[in-house]
Amino acid sequence: MHSEISEKHLCGQPLIDCFRIVENFHGWKAPGLVIGMFMIDLARELVGESVESDAIVETRHCLPDAIQLFTPCTIGNGWMKIVDWDKFALSLYDRKNRNGYRVWLDLEKTKQFPDLYNWYMRRVPKKTLPLEVLVNTILSAQRAILSYESIYITRLYERDKKGKTTICSVCKEAYAEKLGKVCISCQGRGYYTASENLINERSEQ
Ligand code: ZN
Repeated sequence: MHSEISEKHLCGQPLIDCFRIVENFHGWKAPGLVIGMFMIDLARELVGESVESDAIVETRHCLPDAIQLFTPCTIGNGWMKIVDWDKFALSLYDRKNRNGYRVWLDLEKTKQFPDLYNWYMRRVPKKTLPLEVLVNTILSAQRAILSYESIYITRLYERDKKGKTTICSVCKEAYAEKLGKVCISCQGRGYYTASENLINERSEQ
């Protein structure tokens, strides 16, 4: 890593620490997470680092993890929303006035970095493009592959409030009351059946 790069700060911390966070979480420097670091860094700067921002992310792949690692927004706390459009884009916005910025990986701009373009478009087999090469390309590109726009959030800004829970009379588990008289599984609309060999592990009532 070049020294000027290693002294760089992203998302409020030294780049080297950002990499450590990604590797601890993911096991390796996932390129999508590294690009995500630069996107979040840019979005944070545009929105204002002191602003309490919520996030909307436009793909289920990679980027939601970057948001959870480098902002306080998580799926669990409801501050991050995911739309399943497979666009490599995210928005951070001021939750009080809904003004924010959308940042995206600009495909036209990535053409200056053919390795990156080919990786994103899946034009090369993973084996022929070593991870280090790809990550170094991202590090030299930084914001040069990103575009952004100022936005006002019109949908998805409401935080999901946890509703009432009640106890299912069949399975005795707690569930969201709004879903019906018994839980979804006991209505026969669940996603599993119990395996025979495990069925007795369930505690007897
Ligand atoms: Zn039930």
